[in-house]
Amino acid sequence: MIDVNGVKVGGEQLVVMAGPCSVESLDQLREAAQAVKAGGAHFLRGGAFKPRTSPYDFQGLAEEGLKLLRQVADENDLRVVTEIVDKDDIELVGKYADVYQVGARNMQNFQLLKALGKVKKPVMLKRGLSATISEWLNAAEYIAAGGNENIIFCERGIRTYETYTRNTLDLSAVAAIKELSHLPIIVDPSHGTGRWQMVQPMARAAVAAGADGLIIEVHPHPEVALSDGDQSLTPKNFNLLMSDLGKIAEVMGRKI
Ligand code: PEP
Ligand code: MN
Repeated sequence: MIDVNGVKVGGEQLVVMAGPCSVESLDQLREAAQAVKAGGAHFLRGGAFKPRTSPYDFQGLAEEGLKLLRQVADENDLRVVTEIVDKDDIELVGKYADVYQVGARNMQNFQLLKALGKVKKPVMLKRGLSATISEWLNAAEYIAAGGNENIIFCERGIRTYETYTRNTLDLSAVAAIKELSHLPIIVDPSHGTGRWQMVQPMARAAVAAGADGLIIEVHPHPEVALSDGDQSLTPKNFNLLMSDLGKIAEVMGRKI
């Protein structure tokens, strides 16, 4: 069980992290944070350093984005999870975040993993785009070997031959991690499918598979999002998802 300033990940309570893909502005983030808080989320997510496929796409607001995350999360009593892409930013990101997110593209950035092993703050380790479960466990081992055992796994889909979805969400990874590790695992149905219409069904399935929580992209106006609008839920749909999940959580002996 990982304690994030009073929010426990891996216990009876399912933990929900939600918010936009990227921090874009104070207004956007505040609207998202108020919506996810009202829906029952525990964490505000949002990227300030974005690892984009194209160098011409929005790269994130950097420290300005981190400041907005902290401010708006505090206004709404939410914890902050945000991505770190460079080991030299550990101090900077740590000043504002409660959990460091290691993105899929950095799962085997061993210098970053080793550096995160030297801090105490929890790390959410996303599965690499084409990483096996064994490679993923070894990546976590890099962090743990340095002394930081506060690690949360996050299944976010893997690359397969299927093109209808952005990635193929591998829910068998939840069962595998439960068998192989004592650490908690959450599921990201947003990146796992790439399509907002599929987020709710896959969130349900993740909870039924035994996940300890979810990370979900929510944007107040997905149609104008600077990244990942196609997979972002509106506040209304996030609310629907959260009320729906209660029933499955109960069957699983969990709370949401
Ligand atoms: C994200 O969470 O916005 C993100 C970039 O995720 P991933 O590393 O899983 O692609
Ligand atoms: Mn995203």
